[in-house]
Amino acid sequence: NYRCRSAFKLLEIDDKHQVLCPGLSVLDCGAAPGAWSQVAIQRVNALGTDASAPVGFVLGVDLLRIAPLEGAVFLSNADMTDPSTLNKIQEMLPSGKADVIMSDMAPNATGIQELDHEKLINLCLSVLDMSSSILQPGGIMLCKFWNGRDAQLLQSRLMEHFCSVRIIKPQASRKESAESYYLARGYRKTVKN
Ligand code: SAM
Repeated sequence: NYRCRSAFKLLEIDDKHQVLCPGLSVLDCGAAPGAWSQVAIQRVNALGTDASAPVGFVLGVDLLRIAPLEGAVFLSNADMTDPSTLNKIQEMLPSGKADVIMSDMAPNATGIQELDHEKLINLCLSVLDMSSSILQPGGIMLCKFWNGRDAQLLQSRLMEHFCSVRIIKPQASRKESAESYYLARGYRKTVKN
């Protein structure tokens, strides 16, 4: 049983685009209540359930408390936009690095669409900034955003740092009409000129 139906969005994205596989180290940003982490635990083999496959790792971070889950490590009451969170994440990740950074973060909606959009883009940008310290070269970033004016800005920032960037709209998100995900692959630190 998944803690939240958002699990089906990640299952769908992963089935289609192969983001998670056994042995990978995953950072799940905005992880509460923990459904994406549940999916990640299975797909990266964090519990070693498949003895013939490499064992992965899942770290979830959220402003809220995340109830314990076998196979994941959680950093609760932590703000991804707070610079002190980076050190804590680095200490908790194996060798301080992740292969995949995913963010299903969402700010508390004000109801003012443009403002909510901007806030979420800023959350995505702070995840991208953090990537330079923790994302492995060649790594993947998957992040939720709400459509609006600044999406292009986020997309161009992602394109500076990743080989490929695409927009995904899972079937399971169809009700939340303004919601989509960026899937960026092939992380490189250096910005091309
Ligand atoms: N993917 C989760 C799951 O499947 O269980 C659901 C995530 S929920 C849609 C969005 C989460 O983002 C909320 O729990 C919220 O507390 C978190 N969040 C929002 N802003 C954040 C921030 N600045 N730092 C960390 N988490 C944040």
